[in-house]
Amino acid sequence: MLTVKQYVNNPYTSNTFILEEDNGADVYLIDAGFTCSIKELIGSDKKIKGVFLTHAHYDHIHGINEVMNAFPDCEIYCSEGTKQGLYNEKFNLSFYHEEPIILKNGNVTVVGNDKSVTLFKTCYLKIVETPGHNSGSLSFIVSNYFFTGDSYIPNIPVVTKLKGGNKDANLKSLALIFNSCHVDTIVCPGHGVTYKGTALELAIVTDAKQYQIPVNV
Ligand SMILES: [Zn+2]
Repeated sequence: MLTVKQYVNNPYTSNTFILEEDNGADVYLIDAGFTCSIKELIGSDKKIKGVFLTHAHYDHIHGINEVMNAFPDCEIYCSEGTKQGLYNEKFNLSFYHEEPIILKNGNVTVVGNDKSVTLFKTCYLKIVETPGHNSGSLSFIVSNYFFTGDSYIPNIPVVTKLKGGNKDANLKSLALIFNSCHVDTIVCPGHGVTYKGTALELAIVTDAKQYQIPVNV
């Protein structure tokens, strides 16, 4: 059975989600903004097989070189825009922080809309392009989990003013995200707690200024 663990990265407050199966050694990460050791993140008996990046901002990729050092065969899945950000400290904003991040070694696979990646025997991940917060923003659906990165954080207005952001694109992405949510969907955002939402409640949001609505926990 699929297990999803949430790890809140310190000091960034961004989330890394760890996907694993009962008794399985292989794990996948959604985002890699962690600053702790890999052992603390996943345990010493596990192996990271793949990392899915929602976007290239430094607080979501901080640990990417540690992952590749520990697991050189690990695959990084991201958009073309995010791939460029992995090699550009200004685009990924790490330039403006104490520790610039540039991917040193890595197997990067560029993925886009409706592409699916098999994670475990009966479990796959579907990619949904959700630009707006960042030009290369992706969201990921695994079973009833919806990993939305910074494209949608319930009750928090989406930031679209950073380089690569686009307010109109974000509105379209939000509509897409809300339409994909159903009663059992667990929204796992890039920051903050996870939410169980319904399409009805989420669909109320039609305007960028009305994002701060209550959503079922
Ligand atoms: Zn971001």
